[in-house]
Amino acid sequence: MNAANFSSLPPILEVQNLRATYYANRQTIPAVSDVSFTLRQGERLGIVGESGSGKSSLALALLRLLKPPTKIEGTVTYNGGPNLLDLNQTQMRAMRWRDLALIPQGAMNSLNPVMKVKHQLRDVFAAHQRDWTADRVHNHIDEVLGLVGLPAAVGELHPHELSGGMKQRVCIAMAILLQPKVIIADEPTSALDVVVQRLIMQTLRQVQAQLQSAVIIIGHDMGLMAQFVDRLAVMYAGKLVEIAPVKPFYRAPLHPYSGSLIAAVPSTRQQRVMAGLPGSQPPLTQLPTGCAFHPRCPFAMERCHREIPLLRTVAPERAVACHLVEAVL
Ligand code: SF4
Repeated sequence: MNAANFSSLPPILEVQNLRATYYANRQTIPAVSDVSFTLRQGERLGIVGESGSGKSSLALALLRLLKPPTKIEGTVTYNGGPNLLDLNQTQMRAMRWRDLALIPQGAMNSLNPVMKVKHQLRDVFAAHQRDWTADRVHNHIDEVLGLVGLPAAVGELHPHELSGGMKQRVCIAMAILLQPKVIIADEPTSALDVVVQRLIMQTLRQVQAQLQSAVIIIGHDMGLMAQFVDRLAVMYAGKLVEIAPVKPFYRAPLHPYSGSLIAAVPSTRQQRVMAGLPGSQPPLTQLPTGCAFHPRCPFAMERCHREIPLLRTVAPERAVACHLVEAVL
């Protein structure tokens, strides 16, 4: 899908100024700070950034899966409906799996070791579709296992009888069981070898195309992301610093941090020195003043030390938070 194509699609998820704040050891930790973006129907959006940049917190905040005292603020609307943050627990529970589903980080390790796969899938189903007959549920489970490339016989097995890739497919099956319009996959290929990673991403893509769901894929493998998403969003220190359609993003990243992420990806097409990024992301409890990236940015100006750059739209479906980009526009 190119930028012009998905610009015309209606939004399925609109996120405005989303904030998630943890409180621990008498410290306030702004894990997600004022994140805004629109996910369109059928879009594949990748979210990348270093560990601790707030990617997983963002995924959990979207589904209100962060427990108090963590505070979630802002606006998240699904398909033009009310703010999800205003729904009561019963309403929110009804939406999870049915409208928005999460494949959590390390999902394959969250399968119940003493339950057969089909029983775990049936439990998800029973919570939402109580009026279906047992036969209908059974057939649907077989069908969904087929969609993720698993034979129906896998339903009779326990998780320990499956490989890592198979377990991850079961987790994808669980997420798509109720045909949600938004699937959030948090590092769906971590702990898998490279061949299986690619197969899992292909499965996710096929399933997404078949169901016409939008997918948010969280990860840090820039190479893998480049091949599977329509747009990429980059997070740094809890903020969204750039969001752009994948081709212009890789061709000409606008934020200096995006540029360093791309420079660190090995290329088989051209010989070049892979550049690392000196320093590390600041702790969220001790963010520098101004742009949080300024201590590592080779282009930092005086203004960057005192003023936080805002995320500004610079082209269709593209926005960036950087004073340098503002200066040349
Ligand atoms: Fe670098 Fe300044 Fe842009 Fe931050 S705002 S990325 S420090 S140029």
